[in-house]
Amino acid sequence: MEAQLRQALKEYFGYDSFRPGQEEIVRSILMGEDVLAVMPTGSGKSICYQLPALMADGITLVISPLISLMQDQVQSLVQSGIRAAWINSSLTPRQQQLALERAGQGAYQIIYVAPERLSLPAFQRFAQSAPIVLVTVDEAHCVSQWGHDFRPSYLEIPAFLRSLPRRPVVTAFTATATKAVREDIIRSLELDAPKSFVTGFDRPNLYFEVQEPKNRDEAIIEALDRFPGQSGIIYCLSRKKVEELANKLQSLGYSATRYHAGLSPEERAANQEDFLYDRARIMVATNAFGMGIDKSNVNFVFHCGMPKDPESYYQEAGRAGRDGSPAQCILFFLRQDLQINRFLIDRSAEERSGLNSAQAKHLRTQDLSRLQEMTRYATAPGCLRAKLLSYFGEQTQQCCGNCSNCLDQNPPEDLSELGKKFILCVALLAREGHAFGSRAVIQILLGAEEPDLDWLRPRRLDCFGSLAGVPASRLRQVSAALLDQGYLVQSEGDRPVLELTERAPSLITGKSRLWVKHKNISRQQRLLLPRQGEDSGLFEALRQVRSVLARREGVPAFMILSDASLRDMSSLRPTDHESFLSVKGVSKRKAEKYAPDFLKAIADWEG
Ligand code: ADP
Ligand code: ZN
Repeated sequence: MEAQLRQALKEYFGYDSFRPGQEEIVRSILMGEDVLAVMPTGSGKSICYQLPALMADGITLVISPLISLMQDQVQSLVQSGIRAAWINSSLTPRQQQLALERAGQGAYQIIYVAPERLSLPAFQRFAQSAPIVLVTVDEAHCVSQWGHDFRPSYLEIPAFLRSLPRRPVVTAFTATATKAVREDIIRSLELDAPKSFVTGFDRPNLYFEVQEPKNRDEAIIEALDRFPGQSGIIYCLSRKKVEELANKLQSLGYSATRYHAGLSPEERAANQEDFLYDRARIMVATNAFGMGIDKSNVNFVFHCGMPKDPESYYQEAGRAGRDGSPAQCILFFLRQDLQINRFLIDRSAEERSGLNSAQAKHLRTQDLSRLQEMTRYATAPGCLRAKLLSYFGEQTQQCCGNCSNCLDQNPPEDLSELGKKFILCVALLAREGHAFGSRAVIQILLGAEEPDLDWLRPRRLDCFGSLAGVPASRLRQVSAALLDQGYLVQSEGDRPVLELTERAPSLITGKSRLWVKHKNISRQQRLLLPRQGEDSGLFEALRQVRSVLARREGVPAFMILSDASLRDMSSLRPTDHESFLSVKGVSKRKAEKYAPDFLKAIADWEG
């Protein structure tokens, strides 16, 4: 089977080898086992179910949450000569009926549908008579009420599966790794003794960086200089910020477009297309943009503002460098992002209907703890990659050498002693029955002359004035780090109140320490950070050829061949059809269609 699988991989997708996990998943599916696969964005999930679909004797149904996602996938399958189709509400009723008829006649190997469709009578009739042998649930975490992206329509899937005359092999794919969500998927989708696969979450070609700039727009514009002529996404937390930044970039002459839920569907579609077809180089967007955007040549993903949790961050950042080329993910963080996210969490808590108050409270607590983890990523020292991976349950080396914290030459500062005194003060105050927020605790530590605190003075608390002489700004830094790193929490009632967490004692006993990194890497050092490699002249020439082909076929350039393929081609410099086939990502069908044009360009270039 091994040789056969590899041959199919090359023939249809143009790759010589599987990425980690892919082959095992494909084998399991072909052996008739249910599968739950957890793989990060950009790691190559699609091939895991598309390859078995091509080799299976019957129809594969792919259940997918979004229309744009289906369209992209199908377009790219059809490009590779695979009989695929989608049936969704973007077709007229007549077209839907026709598509179902053709599907019933066996015209398609792979059919994409949204979960809502499963219960429609016409689709039910089709499903009862068609040989559906494989059902794939994409973005399977949407079935979990405890996940970060619950979609009620996913709950209809098990009833649909039960209604089929013969139970197909069922596979579920997601990029969300937490154990609770995984268990929820298995239970809710009624997977039958599934084989679970959790492939490594690391994406070694991604470089991670965090900045806490004084002026965020300026920092973003400066960072754009690292990517001359390349494509990327800039995520913002609000529609307003998207508008503002997109306008600013356009007025500075950048090729930028925008995407958010406040635009008309037509404008959204047009802007998305401009980005996919490389007519606009930079997409400024809210998180409404991107699910299902498989554009493989995204060279950078910036976040102008911190997302609400590491799941969202890794998913959005993971849209960079899908084809395996080096790419950068930079988070531009400001303190105010925390307030915005707390506000969003509270709002979404209010919008959650149908839950009792205990459930709602549970979800809110979960949201806040995810936000806490994200804040630690943005503010604490230590390898950024290691932080993300350990959040997803993976142990890694402590320094990756490919993130801004690992490359930072200013060693982080150890503020453990000040941190300890701060925590002890909060503890002492609590024992005396007083609750204060961080501003007041700082005043107490400084022994400041505050009329508000005068009544405390005669009590002669040990901590009163115990840090007199330390600059207040220093103590604010300590307090922020204690909060960011989870030693303290501050509840936001009528007035703020600090409380110790379970983690607090570890600082007192010296088991853990309070490290604080410098806010910003110096300008000089920033110049040393990795820039995207300059590509050769031949690469540029091949890119031109690709643009012409893309226009001829009416598809985005990356669907013809990825940047990684063009790079491989420019170093292999194939001279005939045979050697052209050995280029990474060149399938049989693509070689037939495109070899002559590329070979000619290479011959011309070599002169
Ligand atoms: P995911 O769905 O996991 O986010 P995709 O399935 O879109 O990721 O795959 C991401 C990219 O990786 C695509 O451009 C795909 O062609 C490429 N890819 C997938 N499998 C391989 C492989 N075995 N070798 C090289 N590239 C691959
Ligand atoms: Zn690192």
